[in-house]
Amino acid sequence: MLYDFRSFVNPGHYAFGKGTFNHLGELIDRRKTPTSDWTVFMIDHYFQDKEETLNRIPKSDKDLVIFIDSTDEPKTVLVNKYRDQILAYQETLPAVMVGMGGGCAMDYAKATGLMVTNPGDSKDYQGLDLIKNEGIYTICIPTITGTGAEVSMTAVLSGPEKKLGIKCDYTIPNEIIFDPELLATVPDEDRFFTGMDNFIHNVESMNGSWINSMGQAFAEKSNDITVDVFMNKYKDRLEADEKMMVASIMGGNSTTYGQVGVCHALSYGLAVVLGTHHGVGNCIVFNQLEKYYPEGYKTFKEMQAMQGVEIPANITAGCTEAQFDQMVEVSWALEHMWNNAFGPDWRNKISKEEIKDLFKRM
Ligand code: NAD
Ligand code: ZN
Repeated sequence: MLYDFRSFVNPGHYAFGKGTFNHLGELIDRRKTPTSDWTVFMIDHYFQDKEETLNRIPKSDKDLVIFIDSTDEPKTVLVNKYRDQILAYQETLPAVMVGMGGGCAMDYAKATGLMVTNPGDSKDYQGLDLIKNEGIYTICIPTITGTGAEVSMTAVLSGPEKKLGIKCDYTIPNEIIFDPELLATVPDEDRFFTGMDNFIHNVESMNGSWINSMGQAFAEKSNDITVDVFMNKYKDRLEADEKMMVASIMGGNSTTYGQVGVCHALSYGLAVVLGTHHGVGNCIVFNQLEKYYPEGYKTFKEMQAMQGVEIPANITAGCTEAQFDQMVEVSWALEHMWNNAFGPDWRNKISKEEIKDLFKRM
């Protein structure tokens, strides 16, 4: 194993299964104190006009609801803005932050909950162990599944200079509600792209040099389930969605005890230069990675064919040389991912020219 010693942290409480969302109010009430008795709900904008779901949210008059526009991935400037809004909203700190949605809403809740108790600009906390103070008690509720953000020690943010997570023990959510009924309305394409994020986390961690037995076990089982989900082996969508939530928990852990690799390094390049969203970006990249992950690639193509989802092509066709160079530099800077993929002498195993050529094929 390459990285320094670390004792990893997981969320403290998991509520799992159909109907668990009905208990959100109780879980929030347990965390209230006389001096801190209100809640911030950060909810994916999809639910903004979904009265049936909104009416189930246990919101009191004191609480603040922020709808998260997940068209763009989380930004440090918006985390700062939400933090200021929360601090100005009441004289006391909130007892609970709720992040309800996909990786975007959950990462916003994780990051903003930390910035409420840590001074300054969230861009200065992008990196490892830079956060000083524990944040607000955070409950995550995935409504689309596969990123593993609900169990990961990272809140991925794009700042003025880089796309990089705030990563530390305090970033982990405190509690998660996994209710597969909330996933029923996810469109097939989004479901596939976010599901493939999970598949790729596992392929990259299993094929990397940082993996240990713990990560290996999570990755193998997670991908057994993911493949069954996307090869339509389960009896109905609800059962498949529930299974996929388990796969996402395990996939998140496979990267905790391992690391991502070539696909994520390249997809961050697309995200920074073209704003390509994470799930679809990973699929666009993975579509070109047969050489690096031949077995994973084959299975990926089988699942894609079964789901009938198109992967966008030629998205870099109009890019300038300067844009390609920037994509390469963003990617090249993600040393930990290359190090996992190829080992410490990774600079001798892949070149900037090879990376640029890959971008040109996307
Ligand atoms: P997302 O949060 O971007 O949401 C994808 C789409 O699904 C959005 O259009 C959203 O409105 C819609 N949606 C969500 N729930 C829905 C529902 N129930 N019904 C209908 N539509 C619904 O997607 P994602 O793939 O979960 O998250 C991507 C983000 O996660 C990226 O910002 C990425 O960087 C981050 N990420 C974080 C980690 C981590 O460890 N923290 C890991 C991987 C990815
Ligand atoms: Zn990912």
